[in-house]
Amino acid sequence: MQHQQKAILFSAPSGCGKTTIIKRLLDYFDCFEFSISATSRKPRSGEEHGKDYYFMTHEEFLHRVDQHEFLEWEEVYEGTCYGTLKSEPQRIWNNGKVIVFDVDVNGGKNLKRYFGDKALSIFVMPPSVEVLEQRLRSRGTESEESIAKRLGRSAKELKESGNFDVTIVNDDLDTAVEETRRIVDQFLKQ
Ligand code: ADP
Ligand code: 5GP
Repeated sequence: MQHQQKAILFSAPSGCGKTTIIKRLLDYFDCFEFSISATSRKPRSGEEHGKDYYFMTHEEFLHRVDQHEFLEWEEVYEGTCYGTLKSEPQRIWNNGKVIVFDVDVNGGKNLKRYFGDKALSIFVMPPSVEVLEQRLRSRGTESEESIAKRLGRSAKELKESGNFDVTIVNDDLDTAVEETRRIVDQFLKQ
């Protein structure tokens, strides 16, 4: 089936489980293609340039901002920028695929405004702030400083779920994935 020009936006504070849920959905929906964001942060172990992110220096990122190459971008954490290159959604729609975004809460709101009814915006909610902290720690990818930055930002972001089309509580992973699958299926049939 062709799903011309649709997009699914996943937003949540860091550590809520967006990447985990998206990976499961990419295996299930053949029509999904992940929008690879640009970032000025360093790759984590196992992350690949051109698969997880387009990794670049802070200088290159800002140069591309000056060249108007971004559809949206944010300095999500002090000194670390993330953004969606304009070329990315176009590339995916040209492939006849549905775009899947993993962006912060501001990025999610901006992209929903841009894509309108073509996009379903999903907020991934942790069962509690304590569980969110545990998950960030158990992922083992962040320094104490980075965990503190991420938790600091999450308090504000968690209040934004009402600005999204749907909220999924990611308590039990299988349940969250199943619920997301059902909602996305419905959206793709519209
Ligand atoms: P995000 O992409 O939102 O930053 P991740 O997908 O990296 O979050 O998830 C953060 C950590 O929590 C990872 O170690 C992941 O394996 C774990 N995790 C995600 N969802 C669940 C869940 N439902 N139950 C337990 N652990 C989870
Ligand atoms: P991480 O460093 O954990 O991969 O991502 C940190 C945060 O940046 C997450 O909330 C993630 O969704 C967000 N992010 C990743 N790519 C983009 C992007 O292109 N735009 C925006 N606005 N946020 C992004």
